[in-house]
Order: sequence, then structure tokens, then C-alpha cells
Amino acid sequence: MDVDAHAEELASTLGIDKAEVKADLENLLEYSVPIDEAKQSVRRKHGGGSGGSSPSPTTVDLAEITTDHGNVTVTVRVLTVGTRTIRYQGEDITIREGELADGTGRISYTAWQDFGFEPGDSLTIGNAGVREWEGEPELNLGDATTVAIADDDVTVDATIGGDRDLIDLDPGDRGRNIEVRVLKVDSKTISGRDGETPILEGVVGDETARLPFTDWDPRSTVEAGADLRIEDVYVREFRGVPSINLTAFSTVTPLPDPVPVNENAPRLSIADAIDTGGMFDVEVVGTVLDLREGSGFIERCPDCGRVLQSGQCRSHGDVEGEDDLRVRAILDDGTATTTVVLNADLTADVYGGGLEDAREAAREAMDKSVVAESIADELVGRAFRVRGNLSVDDYGANLDAETFTAADDDPAETARSVLSTIRSRAATDGGRERATGGARIGAEDSDRGEDTEANR
Ligand SMILES: [Zn+2]
Repeated sequence: MDVDAHAEELASTLGIDKAEVKADLENLLEYSVPIDEAKQSVRRKHGGGSGGSSPSPTTVDLAEITTDHGNVTVTVRVLTVGTRTIRYQGEDITIREGELADGTGRISYTAWQDFGFEPGDSLTIGNAGVREWEGEPELNLGDATTVAIADDDVTVDATIGGDRDLIDLDPGDRGRNIEVRVLKVDSKTISGRDGETPILEGVVGDETARLPFTDWDPRSTVEAGADLRIEDVYVREFRGVPSINLTAFSTVTPLPDPVPVNENAPRLSIADAIDTGGMFDVEVVGTVLDLREGSGFIERCPDCGRVLQSGQCRSHGDVEGEDDLRVRAILDDGTATTTVVLNADLTADVYGGGLEDAREAAREAMDKSVVAESIADELVGRAFRVRGNLSVDDYGANLDAETFTAADDDPAETARSVLSTIRSRAATDGGRERATGGARIGAEDSDRGEDTEANR
């Protein structure tokens, strides 16, 4: 929508001259006032309800709220409260965010100060701003907002509180609580906005799933094998899968009993796995059709780990390469194909020898490609069971293998199982449109399998 269209719309709701509204809007926009605020300001100026000092905002049901509302008063139940620090105009601000609900629906909110409410509280929130967030209306609770305990409890048809199983976490979730076992954890130092910052990265699991996590405020209780209740985490999308984030506001409490963890990854057809937009831990079974370029005995850039092409790094140019082994195989199960990436260890397994053996073979043949050829002889035309982390981008799917084993399944049984998976998925197809789109990471070019691996 351009300024003209906004002016048109405002003028018609306010019943005044469009040219005047447009002039006011343009004036505000010149001072870099966001369009929504500018519209509210113009509304107030012309007495079009909501927001100002005198006219009180209308009381509305959540289901009625649209992004055209200026300010509203609502009576709601607090579902979740997440705490986070964000940098806003150069300053760190602690915000609360989560979801509110009433009998008609639910809405997310951001509170720019601590109003002290908690999940389960029934509140009347006065003069909350409505803004658009990812296409949906969201409530903004700021200086002008009043928060009071409601006269009666608000009845809602929604889960109160942030407790969730891992399988139910989605990117964008705030204020979630999980009970998990730490399966893997590594200390890392990253260059953040405040310079070198230590963080923890790893994997947690429960009975429903495994997911990667990042602890931005490393604590010693987050160690491999620990069974923990972690409160107030947020979830974002990282390489196509939900990733759990712990902040300084998250609380970590050791649990007295072990958390049961499902040892198996969900087994899906390749097409269904790709359809999810990315899965952290999945198992597929298919036939290797061919090896991709850059398989076998390869050289990596010592600076960034990218695979060299004709001795050149895409970022660092002419460098002295470091030898490595890896495989990029095309796996097909009749529903779709994915590139399976085997790291050095898995490649050594299928090659039947390590880097020294590869060097030796290449020297003898005076040709590095003999290594890839020998691996292709082992893999092409045979069926394999692959478990790992599937990421999907515009260029296709990459399955970073954790395990890679010959499939001893009866091929007919495999086909039946794949078919039944497809049928059961098709039956539940309606609920599948998850927020797996949006910002994908690292989709620079078709060679991103290398970047993925380089980052390890
Ligand atoms: Zn490089």
C-alpha cells in the first residue's frame, strides 16, 4: 500500500478530505515515523477515535481486531510470558512477549515494560496499540497502556502456560517451558554485536523429538546427560528447523528423574520429509543414483573450510588446500531425491580407508578422481538407510548424515511402508502448512552442502 492508498482509506473512515490527510501523512513520514504510527496520529488529530488523551479506545473481542484498529481495550487471559532483551535504537530493552486469549480467539503481544502479569492472569488491558506483525495484528503494551486485574476470570479454549513437548515447538514461539535431556553440548565463541561471545550449542531430546539449542548465557548445569526443566525459552528457525534459544532470563532446574528420550528418528518418504521444510532428525531409505561433483578426495580452504574448485576458494581465492574426504550422493526413494552428505568418517567407512589410503591411491593413479570412482562402485545402485538433519532450500534438499547403513529391508516392504506413510500424511495434509518458509539461511548457491559442512 502506498501513501496515496493509506490516505484514501483514512479519509474515508474519518470522513474528511483526502488531500488534507495525505499532506499530514507525508509530513510525518518525512520524519521517518512508521506508517502505522503516522496513521494513528492523523486519526487522533481528526478525532477518529482511539488513542488520544480524551477519547477512550473501544473495547473489543480479540477476534474482531484487525490491523486497521488504532488502539483497543481488551479483557483477556494471559497464556504465555516470554522475556527477552532486544537492542532498540542502540539501547538494550527488556521486553515481554507471548500470547493473550479471550473466548473469541488469541493474539500475540509485546510489552515494552514489565507490567508484572503472569500466565493464567485475567486482565483488562486498556489502550493497547495494534500493530501488524508478519501479516497479523499484534498488541503493543507501552507507556500509555493500563493493565488491571479483570473483574471475572476469562474463560479460554487454549493452553495456559508455556509447557510444551519438543514436537510442538514452532519458530516464533515465546515463553516456552521444556523438560529435556541434554544429548550433546559444545562450547563455542562467536563474534556477536558485543564482540567475542561464549555460547553453548547442542541437542536436547524428549520422548517426542530432538532439537538443536543455543544457550546465549552459558551455564554449567547445561551439560551432556543432564535432565532439565528449562523455562522461558524462545524458538526460531535455523537451517529449516526449529531451534531452541536460552537467554539470561531462562531458568534451568535439574530434574530428579531421567527424561525419556526416543532413540528413533521418524521415518518418512523423501518427498514428505522435504515437504516439512526441514527436519532436524529424520530417517529415509532410498537408492543411491549417482555421486555429485565434489565427492571423494577433496581439498578445503584452510580459512573457511569451503571445498576448493581448481585450487580456488570462492571467498579466499588461491589457497593451500587441506585434504579431506566426503561424499555427496543423490538418494532416491521413488517419491523424490535428496543429496546425502557424508562427513570424513562416514566416507572412510564406505571407501574402506582413510585419508592416507586415499592419498596413496591418488598418487598411484596420478588422479584424485579414482577415490570417488571407487566409492561410486560401492554405493551406486544400492539401497541405504540414512538418518540425519535435512535442510531444504530453493536448490533442493540436503541430508547431513549422522548414520549411513546398507538397507537390509525387503524392497517390497520398504515400498509398502513408504506408501502407507504417504497415505497417512495425505490424510492429515490440512494441518501441514507450518511456518517453515521465510528466512532460509545460507542459500547462497547450489553448493551450500559445503557451507553446511564447513560450519561444523
Ligand atoms: Zn575460504
